[in-house]
Amino acid sequence: MPLTLFNTLGRELQAFEPRNPGKVGFYGCGPTVYNYAHIGNLRAYVTHDILTRTLRRRGCEVTHVMNITDVGHLSGDNDEGDDKMVKSAEERGKSVLEVADFYTKAFFNDTERMNIIGPTVVCKATDHIPEMIALIKRIEENGHTYEAGGNLYFDVKTFPHYGIFHSRYAEDQNNIARIDADANKRNPQDFVLWFTKSKFENQALVWDSPWGRGYPGWHIECSAMSIKYLGEQFDIHAGGIDHVSIHHTNEIAQSEAATGKEPWVRYWVHNEFLVLDKGKMSKSAGGFLTLQSLIDSGYDPLDYRYFLLGGHYRSQLQFSWDSLGGAKNARRSLTDRIKALAAKTGPLPEGVSGDGGKAAAGKAAAYLTAFDKALEDDLSTPRALAELWGLLRDAEVDPVDALGAAFDMDRVLGLKLVDAAQGVWIAARAKPAEDGALVQEIESLIAERADAKKAKDFARADGIRASLKDRGIILADSPDGTTWRRG
Ligand code: AMP
Ligand code: ZN
Repeated sequence: MPLTLFNTLGRELQAFEPRNPGKVGFYGCGPTVYNYAHIGNLRAYVTHDILTRTLRRRGCEVTHVMNITDVGHLSGDNDEGDDKMVKSAEERGKSVLEVADFYTKAFFNDTERMNIIGPTVVCKATDHIPEMIALIKRIEENGHTYEAGGNLYFDVKTFPHYGIFHSRYAEDQNNIARIDADANKRNPQDFVLWFTKSKFENQALVWDSPWGRGYPGWHIECSAMSIKYLGEQFDIHAGGIDHVSIHHTNEIAQSEAATGKEPWVRYWVHNEFLVLDKGKMSKSAGGFLTLQSLIDSGYDPLDYRYFLLGGHYRSQLQFSWDSLGGAKNARRSLTDRIKALAAKTGPLPEGVSGDGGKAAAGKAAAYLTAFDKALEDDLSTPRALAELWGLLRDAEVDPVDALGAAFDMDRVLGLKLVDAAQGVWIAARAKPAEDGALVQEIESLIAERADAKKAKDFARADGIRASLKDRGIILADSPDGTTWRRG
């Protein structure tokens, strides 16, 4: 069965076929590092993680590229508002690069704690200004730009497919028309490729360019960096649903306008939002939940991962402490079940493991197949989780097979089930070692007591017997020597 993904291009489920069989180029929009990631952002990265892990489990070699936005992202995606990085640096009394460095580290600390596998390539916007300038030059040479008020704009009217996503998102486009206030634009949907001094007098980071000293618009970084690392056409591009109508629409326009090749990207995967009871979660509006705030309230990052897997990535997911509590309990039952199985089986035989070991045997194989089918069906993690539970609850499945299959499933789910089992096995190994030391100590005390008796030091001999008795060890003398037992 092929992997089926909902492609925002075409708005339908489509069988996924990479351009080069067995190799997948995947670009996922990364964070703007002016603040901590909120738990909604982390939903996007868990979605990317599940997609990458699923492709790898199916034997694909995935090159996963993620950008770090450390320049040029304004609070409004359509070029309006403050520069997020500059504003954050001013508020914190730090330089833009210090802020970027701090929150980039915080971001990867969060993703690591959520067991999100790191991308193959992580690229910072500020390290790729020459690539952006080169791409903008190509767009300009192809006649898709104009200069106004010191900025260079993309002229959407010159690009026939502009707004390829828009039939569905027409409402967003009307909103753009309403909010946009940039008098330099010929059309409300035109967007900035390069800003010069016209936008912010206090812009911290500026570079020389053919259009004057300034800095890039936000969208161009994703086109420039994805093309650099994945080529002028590649397989999958992902991001949150909020990026469909502006950011990704503009990325497509400028990439295809530069290269003349289409489609730039074959499959577009967009995750729906995580929402709070109160509504939308937003980084710029402040008042958002971070992973650390969940940890401070007593939750493990994997509880949150489990919570996210319980929803399909294309459905809006409502966050509440109650449902996070439910996820925590469910995950505990899951690891308890794994531990119980691990205690029964002991370490798994060679080759039966979650690391690409032999395929699950017997009835377990049927659960594994159903699990894979669930993921093939547009990454249905809720159904995949249900198959894991089915497997673990089924008393007819041999425990070794059950553990092996659960570990295999966990290569995609990423709930660290192998660690839970290993904890049991390490504890089991540690116990005999402790006993061994104790036995040695008892034997040497028995020998010392025999020597003391020979030397008629009965006080010492009785002292040893008494101290062992205090520790629950009873000695018995016989003509063949002294034996011991636990009292
Ligand atoms: P940003 O750092 O704001 O550029 O956002 C990083 C990623 O998180 C993007 O893919 C956004 O589309 C996504 N995102 C933002 N808010 C949410 C949310 N509440 N739920 C899910 N994804 C989100
Ligand atoms: Zn992007």
